[in-house]
Order: sequence, then C-alpha cells, then structure tokens
Amino acid sequence: MEKWRYLNLSLMGRIATIKMNILPKMLFLFQTIPILRSPQLFKNWNKDLAKFIWQGKKPRIKLLNLTDEKKRGGFGLPDLKLYYEASTMVWIKDWSNLKKTKILTLEGFDLRGGWHSYLWYDRKRIEKSFGNHFIRSALIKTWEKYKNRIYQKTPLWVSPLEAIQRRELAWEKWPTYKDVLQKVNGNYTLKNQEEINKTFKNVSWFQYRQLKESFNKDKIIGFMEKESFWDKIIHLEKKETARIYKVLLEWSTETEMVKDCMTKWASNIGHPIKMEDWERNWNKRLKYTYAYELKENWYKMMYRWYLTPQKLARCYKNLQNNCWKCETQEGSFFHMWWSCKIAKKFWTKIHGKIQEILGIKFQMKPEYFLLGMPDFEMDLSKDILFNYLVTAARMIYAKNWKLKEIPQIEDWFLKLLDIMNMDILTQYLKRNQGLPKKSADWTLLKEYFK
Ligand SMILES: [Zn+2]
Repeated sequence: MEKWRYLNLSLMGRIATIKMNILPKMLFLFQTIPILRSPQLFKNWNKDLAKFIWQGKKPRIKLLNLTDEKKRGGFGLPDLKLYYEASTMVWIKDWSNLKKTKILTLEGFDLRGGWHSYLWYDRKRIEKSFGNHFIRSALIKTWEKYKNRIYQKTPLWVSPLEAIQRRELAWEKWPTYKDVLQKVNGNYTLKNQEEINKTFKNVSWFQYRQLKESFNKDKIIGFMEKESFWDKIIHLEKKETARIYKVLLEWSTETEMVKDCMTKWASNIGHPIKMEDWERNWNKRLKYTYAYELKENWYKMMYRWYLTPQKLARCYKNLQNNCWKCETQEGSFFHMWWSCKIAKKFWTKIHGKIQEILGIKFQMKPEYFLLGMPDFEMDLSKDILFNYLVTAARMIYAKNWKLKEIPQIEDWFLKLLDIMNMDILTQYLKRNQGLPKKSADWTLLKEYFK
C-alpha cells in the first residue's frame, strides 16, 4: 500500500523527468541524424518510457492521453516519434522555401528535377534515385505522410520553374506561384510576362510558356486560398520543431478529444459535462496550485485511476467484487466514490462544513466534490478555496480507499492545514524569487479554525 501510494504521487514527476532529461538528448539526436527509418526503434523507446512511468506495472492511462497537451486534459508526455517527425520536417522546410542554396545544391547534386518536383509533383515515383539517398528518403517519407493533410490544393510556395529547370538554370531566386499569380474576379490567373519580368528579369518567353503549361495543369485542382500552418512554418527562423510538434500532436490526438473517462463521468453523474467545463479545469483550476500532489489527485479522478473491487475481481477470480465499505453492493468506481451509503456519510459531512466555511448554500452534487466543477456562482477567491477544500477531502478519502472506515473530519482539517501551510510557504518563496502568482486567500479557513 505504501509503495502504491509512492507510485501515485510521482506520476507527474516522472513525466517531468522525461521531459527535462531525455527529450533534449533525443531532440539533439533527431536534429543531427534524421534517418531513423525503423518503426521498431520507437516502439522500443516507448516501451522503455512506459516501464519507467509505470514502474513495471500495468499502465492505467492510455499513452495517447499521456502525450496529449495539458490544455486538452493530457499530461504533456513527449511523443518521441512525433518529435522525430517534427525534426525531419524542419529539413523539409528548406526544400520548400529554397533558401539555403548551398546546402540544397549539395544535398541534391544527383537529382534531375528541382526540389519542388519531388515535394509537390511526385517526381519521386518516376525517379527512383531520389530515395536511394539515405537522408532524403527518410525525410520525404514524413512529408508524404502529412502533405495531403496540409494541402488539398497547390500551395502558393511552389515554384513550377524550379521543379522543371533547377538543373539547367542555376538561379538564386525562383518565382513561386505566389509571385506569378494574381486574382482576377476571385480567380487565380497568371500574370503576363512583362509583369513577371519586373521582379524576375531572367524569365524568358520559353520559361514563361513552361510556367503557363504548369499553371494550366495545376489550376485543375486549384490553389490554396488560406495560409496553412506550413506556409507559416517555412518563414520561421527558430522554434520550428516545437511549432510543428504541436500541430502533429493535435492531429494525432484528435480522435481523443472526448476521452473515454469523460464519457464515463457523464453517464455516472447523469448529465453531459460541457467541453468548456472540462477546459476550465484543465486551463484554469489546475493552475491554482503549484503542488504536483494536488494536481495529480485531480488527474486521477478524471482518469478514474483507482482500482475498484469490481475491476480487481475481473482480474483475480478469488476476489469478491463487493464494495469494501458497505460490503453489500458491487464496488464500481462511482459506487466507491459516491453512491455507496457509507461514502455518502463522508460527503454529507464535508458538504456541511464547506457551506459553513464559505458561508454559502449549494446542493450536493457529485461533480462538485469529485471533479471540482461547481456550477454555482462564487467569486474567484472562493472558487480557489473551494477547490482546495474538495481536493483535500478526496485526498484523505483516497488514503482510506481500501479500508472499511471512512476518514474522520479531523483528518480533513489536518490535511487542509498541511495544504494551507505549504501554499503559504510556496507563495512566500515565489514572491522572494520575484515570480508573481495569483495567491489563494486563506482568510475564511483561518477564521473558521479560530
Ligand atoms: Zn458501498
């Protein structure tokens, strides 16, 4: 039990460890040698990370939820594969904007077409030698995975002349569609040669004809109207990897917008929980405190972490599925936390005390206590205090999780004092370091204790 609790407390700590110690080393690796072609490698790394996070025990939260961004209710665990892909996309950026001329010439010395012929016109399929190059083939693989997702139509950064004529004309600057197209009555048309020659003097009548040919082909699928995220990325000079990673992560987790646990909660409390209510907790309430221990308690409630008699009985045939407290009903997650008549005794007391401390009246709904989602009006300082009061109650309840007895109100008071002292100390230290912090106002609780 002691060991199990130790594991509980450090889940977020372990994730932070990975983020601070392992990720920078991996990023360095990805940026220097972007040629990890074996998916097995990532599987092995993920396995090692999982072993570290779960300490060899069975995972209780899906990897996809762990890697999701915090603002979407995830834990922000780095997804190494996506970081790898983001790093390779940074190289692709140079092929898109054609800026680093020297490097491009070196990397593409044996190519017959221009870079854009491979990136956009699928020349790789007819020219096999493109993929013979170790690095190129690894990079283009990532690009092709995401290309169609980013562009359903021809991007405006494409330069058809570069695609066809890179070998013949060693130009420094290539006219892109953005340079040579204009909008007439809402449709893209090709500027005339005279107009183009104003900025690109060396476009001859022959190249203009090639341009026209490409334009006629490409206008069939049309041109991107809106700037995509990639159009923005190719003009960035720094932090591209992080920006790309963020987008790739959003795509990889979009099927998990509504997480399984969220659906289960809604069915337990008997009405849907709005996305904005979840978001308020992820983006606002979880930031009230610096203490990992308190944040982690909330995550564990959301993800329904605690093992129940019902679950254990499914794994071990010799175990009963009855509730450890009333010993009569089946011990489901919601029963154990709320609908059990013994659990109710505990929450009724807590409900009464919170109303006294805050000097307000409110109903007794499970989402107020278990998820810290009050739907009644309170000012910010009461909302913060309410959050601490229910979190403390859940923490002492979790401590008695497997016991028959429910915690005493005195245990709750002690926990609250603990949290309060720790919070006041943290605030004091942060202030000394000059870091501003919206601080909790403990006056109401102090007055109550008098
Ligand atoms: Zn029960």
